[in-house]
Amino acid sequence: MEQTSPKSKILTDRLLRSWIRCRRKAWLDLYGNKESRAWTAHRTLQLDHQHRSFIDLMHQKPGRGLEALIRGEHGVVGLRLKGQGPQGQLIEAHPQLLQKINGQSIWGNFAYRPVIARQGRRITREHRLSLALTGFLLESIQGEKVAYGLAVCKSNKGLEKEKVFLKEGLHQQLIESLIKLDLDLKLKEAPPITTDRKKCTLCSWRSICNAEAKANNDLSEVSGVGARRRQILQDLGIKDLNELATTNPSNLREDIARFGEQHKDIAKQLVQQARVQKTGIAEKLCQGLALPELSSVSGVLLYDIESDPDDRDDFLHGFLSIHKKSNGKWDLKNAKYHPVLVLLKHGESLSWKRLNSKLNYYPNWPVLHYGETEALSIYRMGERNGAETKELRVLKNRFIDIHDRIRKNWCLPLNSYGLKTVANWTGFHWTQSGADGARALLWWRQWKAAKGSSSLNSTKLKKIFEYNKDDCLATWKVTEWLLRQDTHATIPEKRSTHQ
Ligand code: SF4
Repeated sequence: MEQTSPKSKILTDRLLRSWIRCRRKAWLDLYGNKESRAWTAHRTLQLDHQHRSFIDLMHQKPGRGLEALIRGEHGVVGLRLKGQGPQGQLIEAHPQLLQKINGQSIWGNFAYRPVIARQGRRITREHRLSLALTGFLLESIQGEKVAYGLAVCKSNKGLEKEKVFLKEGLHQQLIESLIKLDLDLKLKEAPPITTDRKKCTLCSWRSICNAEAKANNDLSEVSGVGARRRQILQDLGIKDLNELATTNPSNLREDIARFGEQHKDIAKQLVQQARVQKTGIAEKLCQGLALPELSSVSGVLLYDIESDPDDRDDFLHGFLSIHKKSNGKWDLKNAKYHPVLVLLKHGESLSWKRLNSKLNYYPNWPVLHYGETEALSIYRMGERNGAETKELRVLKNRFIDIHDRIRKNWCLPLNSYGLKTVANWTGFHWTQSGADGARALLWWRQWKAAKGSSSLNSTKLKKIFEYNKDDCLATWKVTEWLLRQDTHATIPEKRSTHQ
């Protein structure tokens, strides 16, 4: 992709944040075709979290703009700070919040410090450099040094506050970053796709970057190849997915050992994964059935949790019960969805009782889930609420992680083994287009905020339930695929299969 028309390059705090996440993202933000951007719920979630954190910090409405600063209001938003960068570039910041503190500014015996809302558990480079940029620009207009900024985070436990000191070392990092950002924005073509492709999951440019990585057979497309392994493979002269697919696994095992013994064991797996992605043909990894437990049961429960990670709150536990008919066929048509909403006001003890009684209503039925979260979450809840060891052991034995069974039994022609990718490959489609965990979380927060408005409440809740039910159905679809492969009892070591 090439930039068609040069734009005025003001180095903004927004571009800096994008650049810290991924060099290419900043370039695309400036020159990319906006219509190629996919909406993600993350920005809205971030703004919602910011709003809640600042209300807790300030307890009163902030003023807006320069006039509010001059008047000395307790909090100020809606301000655009401007200045010059290290090489004379125009720089600009739109602070999330400036908070009044004791000091001596040009306006009187008060000054301001920058505040940001921190999402996630830790202060990141993005937080630090954002505060440093705002602090740098603020100093020049208030005539008073900004010694530190504040990062705040609202959670169920209250408001966490942490000072971030704006020392010389951080200022130097800011200067270097602005120079590099400026250089990247002068490039005619977009910088390369990030080697850490996990970042792409949340990025609004993911559609075009994923398509480009696929078209180029980029090594990062191979499931199991992260930034470090990609670099190692390139150092060994393996440039793309096709080359990895045709590499001799024994040679790779020997060669890769010089980068650390731990890589040796994965060499064969990487070659196989690349080969499967190249051919599009799934390969069985071992003899035997993937889900032998399901041959003799009278039904299964599918289980999926929706969580708010900032509040560490598993707010919805969804179950889908599916009976097995007397002819051995699964009665999906009459499957029943059971959402259990876990509200903090109910207390965890009561929630545990409700969940436990739901599970006990279907004794001996395996509980199928995708990934380890569900089993861990309910097991720990049981421990915290006085469940007996024997009871927990029985419960633990009922859980079957479908993701784990897929990974142990099959190599799939997919660049990810996440539920969305695998279930889509088996032919499943989520009812609500564009729905994902982040959007479900956004609906949840909107539902909580809109208490009292019953129509909005019921709509949001219905959407969350539908999404959660679909996650259960998607898990079932993957399970069915595994069961179908199991029924071919004479599975050879390697066979061509899809769906
Ligand atoms: S999708 Fe990935 S590579 Fe593309 S801009 Fe976003 S983070 Fe960078």
